[in-house]
Amino acid sequence: NISVDNTPVETKTTCPYCGVGCGVIARVEEDGKVSIKGDPDHPANFGRLCSKGSALGETLDLDGRALEPQVFGAPASWDEALDLVAARFKDTIAEFGPESVAFYLSGQLLTEDYYVANKLMKGFIGSANIDTNSRLCMASSVAGHKRAFGSDTVPGCYEDLELADLIVLVGSNMGWCHPVLYQRIAAEKARRPSLKVVVIDPRRTATSDIADLHLSIKPDGDVALFNGLLAHLIETGVIDQTYIAAHTHGFSEVFEQIMGQSLADLMMQTGLPAMQLRQFFKLFAASEKVVTCYSQGVNQSSSGTDKVNAIINCHLATGRIGKPGMGPFSLTGQPNAMGGREVGGLANMLAAHMDLENPRHRESAQNFWAAPTMAEKPGLKAVDMFKAVADGRIKALWIMSTNPVVSMPDANAVKAAIEACPFVVVSDMQADTDTARLAHVLLPASGWGEKSGTVTNSERRISRQRPFKAAPGSAQPDWWQLAEVARRMGFAQAFAYTSPAEIFAEHAALSGLNNNGSRDFDISAYRTIDAQHYDALSPFQWPQPLGTAPKDSRFFSNGKFYHSDGKARFSATAPAQSDRVNDAFPLTLNTGRVRDHWHTMTRTGKSARLSAHLAEPFAEIHPLDGRDFGIEDAALVEITSVTGQRVIVRALLSERQSRGAIFVPMHWTGEVAPTGRVDTLIPSNTDPISGQPALKSCGVAIKPCVME
Ligand code: SF4
Repeated sequence: NISVDNTPVETKTTCPYCGVGCGVIARVEEDGKVSIKGDPDHPANFGRLCSKGSALGETLDLDGRALEPQVFGAPASWDEALDLVAARFKDTIAEFGPESVAFYLSGQLLTEDYYVANKLMKGFIGSANIDTNSRLCMASSVAGHKRAFGSDTVPGCYEDLELADLIVLVGSNMGWCHPVLYQRIAAEKARRPSLKVVVIDPRRTATSDIADLHLSIKPDGDVALFNGLLAHLIETGVIDQTYIAAHTHGFSEVFEQIMGQSLADLMMQTGLPAMQLRQFFKLFAASEKVVTCYSQGVNQSSSGTDKVNAIINCHLATGRIGKPGMGPFSLTGQPNAMGGREVGGLANMLAAHMDLENPRHRESAQNFWAAPTMAEKPGLKAVDMFKAVADGRIKALWIMSTNPVVSMPDANAVKAAIEACPFVVVSDMQADTDTARLAHVLLPASGWGEKSGTVTNSERRISRQRPFKAAPGSAQPDWWQLAEVARRMGFAQAFAYTSPAEIFAEHAALSGLNNNGSRDFDISAYRTIDAQHYDALSPFQWPQPLGTAPKDSRFFSNGKFYHSDGKARFSATAPAQSDRVNDAFPLTLNTGRVRDHWHTMTRTGKSARLSAHLAEPFAEIHPLDGRDFGIEDAALVEITSVTGQRVIVRALLSERQSRGAIFVPMHWTGEVAPTGRVDTLIPSNTDPISGQPALKSCGVAIKPCVME
C-alpha cells in the first residue's frame, strides 16, 4: 500500500454497515493503522460518514479473528476442511435428498458471494433451501413491491429526499440507523425550512428531534393509519382519478374496504389523538412532493407486507410515484440486502430478478448455467429453515457471515437446533461469535478491506468494495470457499472462477440475457460491465447503463409497471391481529438498534470509541410503567416472555418511550446479566406473505431483578 513516491495509497471502497452504502476512502498509514474518510465523489454520502463508518479503522484488529480452518475444534488445512464439507453435503444429499441441506447467508456478503451460493444451491444441488438474514430485514418490502408493482423494485432515489416538500419516516430511526441519509435531510431542512418531516414511531427517537410532527403510534397501528389516510385523500378529492384509471388496478376493492370507518375507530387502532391524525392527513394531502420512507418498524411485523402495501396504496392513489421528490421508499438495513435480491438471494427468488416459481425463468437460468438439476419450488425461509434444522429435516447447514444464535427470533431454540444438527459449517471472519463456536467446520473468511466485490445500496447504486490489506492467516473470500466446495462436489467446470470480476461478468451476462421475453424485468444495465470495467467501476445506479449520462434514476416515471397488463395493483390490507399482549405479558417489547453498534457487535464492539456511546444493553421504559411495575431508573430489570426465556438488563426510565411498551436493543449477547440476548424472548411469529419475523411486537412481563 505504498506508492512509488513512498506515500500511502488511498483506496476507494464502500462502508460495510448499513444500506445507505457510503463511499469510503481508506488509507493504510506507515505505522499500519488505517485512516478513514468519506468519499466526496460518492453520490450516496458526498464525503459524509456516520460514527460507525468513521470508526472503521478501529475495528480491523485480529482479536477473535478466524485465522485457519478448524474441523471439530482442531486446526486443519483448507484441503481437509473443504474435502470434509463437500463429502458431508454430498453424502447427505445422496442419502436424504437435496431438501436435507441448507445455506443461511447474510446481507453482509458481497454480490459475487451471493451469486455463487445461489447458483450452487438452486442450480446444482437442486434445492432452494437458501435464505438469508435479509429475511429479518426487508422481506416484507420485497413482497409488498412484488404485489404492487409486479417486481421487487425500489422506485425512487436519495435525491428525492432533497426534492420533497414532505418526508414521512415510518418505523425508521434514521438518525441512528441510516445516519448519513438523516444528515442529508437535516442539511436540506436547514437550507429550506419549508421542508416538513413527519416521524411515525411509538418511541420518540433521535430521529423525532427533526420532526415537525411526531406520531407516537400504537405498535402495529400503521395499516390502520395509512388506510385512514387513503380514506381522507378520497374524501377530500386529492386522489388522481386519471392516474388510477390509466395505471392501476384494484382501487374499487380497497375503496370498499376502507371507507366508512369512524374517527373513533381510527383513534383506537392507532392510539393517536384526532388532532394529530388530522394534522398528518392534511399535510400529506397538501404536499404534492412527498416521500414515505419506511424501515424495520414496518417490515419486522406479522403484518409487514400489508403495512408496505398500505403505504404504497396512498402513493398510487395520488400518482405520487416515480417522479422527482415523490414515492414510497424502502430503506434497506444491510449493506448488500439489495445486491442479494439482485442475484436471487432469498429462498423464493432466482438470479437477475427472475422468479423461482416461473417455469420459463427456471428454464432460462438452467440453460444459462448449464445446470444439472434446478430447484423446482421455493425453499425454506429463515424461521422455517431453523425449525427444519430443529426437527431433523435439515441435516447439513452452512451459515455464512451471520450470527443467528443472537439475531434470530426464539434465539435459544435456534441455538439448540444448531447444536443438534448433524453437520454445521460456519464461514466467518470471527471465530468467537455465538454461532461460530457451534461449528463442526469453521472456515475463516476474509473481511472488509481484505476482499473484493460489489454491493448495492437502498437506491440501487452498485459500488465496489476494494481490498487495501492482506487477509490474516489463511482466510479466504466466501465465493472462493463456495467454489472450492462446488468443485469437490463434482461441479468443477461451472465453478472455475478465479476472481470476483469473473463472477460479476457472469452475473452481468445473465442479467442482460435476451431470453425471448422469458423475463418480465429488464436489468440489462449490468451487461455493460465486463471484467475490464470492473476494477475501475464508479458507483452507478441501475437501470442506468454504465457510462451513460443519467436520464432518470427512477422507475415507473412513465406509469408502466411489471404486472402483465403494465398496471400497478392496489392491495386490500388488514391491521395485525393483536394477541401478543395479555395479562401474563402486559407490555409490548420493541427491539432495535443503537447509534454506534452494528448487529451483533462482532466488529463495532472492537472500537472503544463506539462502545463508549452506550456501554451496556438497557430497557427503555416509560416512568409511569416503571412506577407500576416497581422498576427504578438504572436498576436491573428482568424481562420474560411466552418463549420461557428471561433477559436481565438495566432500566432506563424515559418519557421518550410510550406507555405500555418497552424498547431493548438487539446487539448484545452473553448469558450473564446484564447482557441477555433479547431475541431469545421473541416467539417466531412471521408475516404470512413475506415470512419476515415480528421482531418489534412481543408481549413481555417485567419485574425488578433480584440477583441471587
Ligand atoms: Fe456506513 Fe451507513 Fe454510516 Fe454510511 S450511514 S457510514 S453506510 S453505517
